Amino acid sequence: MSERILAICPHPDDAEFGAGGAIAKWVSEGKEVFYAICTNGDKGTTDPKMTSERLAEVRRKEQQAAADVLGVKEVVFLDYPDGGLEDTPQFRGDLVRLIRYYRPKAVATADPYRKYVWHRDHRITGRVALDAIFPYARDRLSYPEHEAAGLKPHKVEDIYFWAADEPNLYVDITSTFGQKVRAIRCHLSQIKNHPGLDVEQRARQRAADWGKEKGIPLAEAFYHVVVPF
Ligand SMILES: [Zn+2]
Repeated sequence: MSERILAICPHPDDAEFGAGGAIAKWVSEGKEVFYAICTNGDKGTTDPKMTSERLAEVRRKEQQAAADVLGVKEVVFLDYPDGGLEDTPQFRGDLVRLIRYYRPKAVATADPYRKYVWHRDHRITGRVALDAIFPYARDRLSYPEHEAAGLKPHKVEDIYFWAADEPNLYVDITSTFGQKVRAIRCHLSQIKNHPGLDVEQRARQRAADWGKEKGIPLAEAFYHVVVPF
């Protein structure tokens, strides 16, 4: 079986901005990448005529298109409301179930420990994903209904946190940067919120800044955790 990576994303678009280049690279190396999109992104608009209902629908399509550009194998939408995530047994159970179902070697998600201004959904997703990985998905008596449904416990080995304040891993995305930009451009409803923003220029600047540290032309930066137990 190919090595699998599960990206656990707070909103539609977070994976592309944070890890789109690395995801395309992992796919090009023969790894299988799966997405879990936690919220439906139904608050992300400046358009006075947009409704939450319509926006959720638009963003679902945008997310699927972006995932297709990167070669992501499957996208699961958990459909929590944007800004509505809480650290609950239900949300944790959703992530545990997906980890036990896809059985990824690695999980990529938002760093929950970014200081000061940080979206609550990013903080909660990162933290709950970490809890779901260890110890819940590993322990068969946690969420025992999964075992009854045929899902065995699973141990994730690596976690890659995007948007980390102090990254310790730099992925060379020079060869997949174009794909990252094409994937970001799928999120038209979000780009429209920032008129005048040059998406490619902004992404290139950020990737160049990340790469400078390690002498890589274009990079994405992560905080990599090896799960010890
Ligand atoms: Zn987000």
